[in-house]
Amino acid sequence: MDADLVIRGGKAVINGKAVPRDIFVKGGRIAAIRPHSTNSRKASRIIDARGLLVLPGIIDAHAHFRLRLGPGKYTADDFTSGSAAAACGGVTTFIDYTGQGPGESPLAGLKARIKEAAGRTYTDFSFHCMLTGWEKMKDPAAQMSKCVKSGVPTFKMFTAYGARGLMAGDAALFAALKAARGLGALICVHAENGPVIDLLTETYAGKEGIKALPLSRPPFTETEAVGRVAVLAASAGAPVYFVHLSAAGSAAIIASARASGLKVLGETCPQYLALDESRFKGKDGYLYSCCPPIRTKDDNAALWSAVKKGQLHVVATDNCTFTRAQKKAWGRDIRKLPMGMPGAQTLLAVAYTYGVKAGKISLGKLVEALCENPARIMGLSARKGFIRPGADADFALIDPNASVKVDARKLQHNTDFSPWQGQTLSGFPKYTILRGQIIAESGELTAPKSFTGQFQHRTKPQII
Ligand SMILES: [Zn+2]
Repeated sequence: MDADLVIRGGKAVINGKAVPRDIFVKGGRIAAIRPHSTNSRKASRIIDARGLLVLPGIIDAHAHFRLRLGPGKYTADDFTSGSAAAACGGVTTFIDYTGQGPGESPLAGLKARIKEAAGRTYTDFSFHCMLTGWEKMKDPAAQMSKCVKSGVPTFKMFTAYGARGLMAGDAALFAALKAARGLGALICVHAENGPVIDLLTETYAGKEGIKALPLSRPPFTETEAVGRVAVLAASAGAPVYFVHLSAAGSAAIIASARASGLKVLGETCPQYLALDESRFKGKDGYLYSCCPPIRTKDDNAALWSAVKKGQLHVVATDNCTFTRAQKKAWGRDIRKLPMGMPGAQTLLAVAYTYGVKAGKISLGKLVEALCENPARIMGLSARKGFIRPGADADFALIDPNASVKVDARKLQHNTDFSPWQGQTLSGFPKYTILRGQIIAESGELTAPKSFTGQFQHRTKPQII
């Protein structure tokens, strides 16, 4: 067979197992997958993958790049630095969010965000449509339908951030879930009890330093919202997907909801799996601020266990990059604290090191949570997330025996800190391949001037 690229001698993760396979790529897609062979075949390029694991390209189902914070103000990573970090971390597709104001057209928001990102990314990309200001929207179900037809079948709603106009009340949530059911769409929920958090934030703001953050958002504020929205979804007959779950109790609710047959899906993030509240003790504790906050070692363990058992389905970053200077401007008042951390470049490495190497999950489960499940749930599985003939030739090749000491200065993120600074992590990719092209090698972009990323038209979510 004539191929554009052959990945030879590696172990490919297929159907949950690492198997010795040569992979033949033609026209940006996987043309054939065969047992190792020494026969020489024609190929424009051959990658010697002996000793490497060949994973499908990672899909980061939850990223924020160039997130608008106010007039002329944005988060530190734009689409170029953010997707560079993603590419160097093994991510080949990220899904970000639209940014239209509450009540404004999600389709217009989608078009605006595609325009912002197009021609500026190293990886493929898509967006979830924000669904805020439901009561102000004219025929919101029809507006959702237009987004689905435009390739975006997933919508984000919040049960918090009332002051910013993002919070959906129970009626809006129930109506949106019913509309999503009719469209075969999926509502993704940021579940925290906004009113209780607002009360506790006023109670603790300016006191306790950064410890005011976990005090203002205790685990029950997440778990209560997860339980409430799960019941609303069940009553509406719709599936629901919870983003960035942080607490053991939330994972337990998802497990019991699923055990009773409800279509409830959950996502967690590296910071909730592998960081804990001891980080708040240092003088740089505020750098670790995100919402919901990082919690305890017991929560870390419960979340890993839920991923292992298939009770949480996706591990994504919630990447939201700020610089030290941006974070420092909080002045010890959590109401002014920028929430979020860089994570795109370290997603795979943290999941591999703390998950697979530490014996918490199998390699097959890692691929399920980072590639296969996000592909299925987010409507990308026809082309992404799996190593199989016909799929896009997207891969992350890792050397399981290599490790890198994380140094924020060497990462592609446009910031000066990393929550993983100084940690020795395995699983950083030797090669990241997007549609048959090597886009990154050993932490560096291979073609920094070539923005090959494309918007991905997604189909209806597959609810697992
Ligand atoms: Zn987010």
